[in-house]
Amino acid sequence: MKILLWRYFALFTVILVAVVSLVCYGVLSNAYSAQAKNHITSVGNNLTAVVDGQINMPPEDVVRIMNSYAASEGIEAFLVGFSGEAYIATADTPDDWDAVVSDMQNRVNGWTLTRAVIYHEGNMLNYASCLIYNGRQCYLLVRYPLSILVSSVRSMQIYIIIIAAVAIVLSFIISYILAQRISRPIKNMSATAARMAEGDYSVNFASAEYQEIAQLSDTLNYAKDEIKKSEDFQKELLANVSHDLRTPLTMIKAYASMIEEISGNDPVKRSKHLHVIIDEADRLTGLVNDILNASKVSAGLSELNKKVFNLTEFIYSIMNKFEYLQQTSGYKFFVDIDADMYTLADEEKIGQVVYNLISNAVNYTGEDKSVYVSLKYIPEQNRIRFAVRDTGKGISEEEINHIWDRYYRSKDMHTRPVKGTGLGLNIVKIILQAHSFDFGVNSEEGKGSTFYVDFPEVSSRPDNV
Ligand code: ADP
Repeated sequence: MKILLWRYFALFTVILVAVVSLVCYGVLSNAYSAQAKNHITSVGNNLTAVVDGQINMPPEDVVRIMNSYAASEGIEAFLVGFSGEAYIATADTPDDWDAVVSDMQNRVNGWTLTRAVIYHEGNMLNYASCLIYNGRQCYLLVRYPLSILVSSVRSMQIYIIIIAAVAIVLSFIISYILAQRISRPIKNMSATAARMAEGDYSVNFASAEYQEIAQLSDTLNYAKDEIKKSEDFQKELLANVSHDLRTPLTMIKAYASMIEEISGNDPVKRSKHLHVIIDEADRLTGLVNDILNASKVSAGLSELNKKVFNLTEFIYSIMNKFEYLQQTSGYKFFVDIDADMYTLADEEKIGQVVYNLISNAVNYTGEDKSVYVSLKYIPEQNRIRFAVRDTGKGISEEEINHIWDRYYRSKDMHTRPVKGTGLGLNIVKIILQAHSFDFGVNSEEGKGSTFYVDFPEVSSRPDNV
């Protein structure tokens, strides 16, 4: 990856530098020749305008004027007669004067007042025009030596090439460093991921200076923590479940043996023992159901099947399942439920929610064995709040954020041996989140907890929907 990145970076900068240098190079060459042409044209035109048609202008004045226009940048000006003689000149005629004149006459190609030409001759840029001075037809020849300009442009062009070469070398070095800086954290990350894949969860994905890579490493750290948590939880669950399964199984076996050996013929004892077996079998069923439900709900196997139903009646029907506790174990249920409340939800899943919350309250309530169940309409919010309150020891602040996690169980010893898998509240959470219902818990240590769910109120009856 480093090499690839480096190659791309380097290629990009090389192209960039090459394009910029070429443009500068080209602009410079064109600009200087265009500028030279403009300059000589303006000098030539001005001189022609001043000298042309003059009758009594002394040659010294012409030289002065010529110098004032032409002397800069080594420009030379000549008034040339038809036979090639220079009447007036700002400089000595060059050695090849005859060739210069005949070339000029060829270019001008016949004397006409309006004619002016600009042309190159070796390193010279020449301007020639036709004019009449002191009643004589003659040529004005202005010569601009480009050698100085050309050499300064050349040296600038050489500088551009040197700068471009240095820039390319620098770009190679910088892009190598950059590529290394980008690829290093990714390389580290992949090494860390490989260690994690081998089961080492103590690894840590190091952060990086690039935001995206830092985000990626945060996400990977989060994923790693979650995988670790899930693995720990699963180990714990396996231990819990096997323990929880073993206890009722041992009981069932023990009581079955007792019936076989002792109480088989004693109807009273036998029925008592059979009851224990039935209770323990129920516990087993509950446990297995919880595990199955949790995996079913979280795997999203079952989709929501929403419909309008009478929540009031529904809650009563679930509470009936707990009636036996009232009779057999002395639990007290205090109920405050508004009549005929309707809501729109998946009835079966909401049944699981209500059942789990009430059975938790039963499991965790205090010595008074009281559970308060309420269903109240809140008109301002057009919601129905279902709440279950117990009088147990409550939930500590650090635990309260975890109780909804999968497999989470309080590490504390409970007042009564509480059987559970740590799946109940997780199932509740998944179902309520799928419905987008508000839910939560208020708890005060030592006083108990209130779990609540807000259902949307639907005033219409099912047949109107
Ligand atoms: P469990 O099968 O252990 O009851 P849950 O998911 O239903 O699993 O609950 C997770 C944990 O939340 C419980 O182990 C317990 O510590 C805590 N909890 C749940 N309901 C109550 C409650 N009404 N009062 C106090 N703690 C509770």
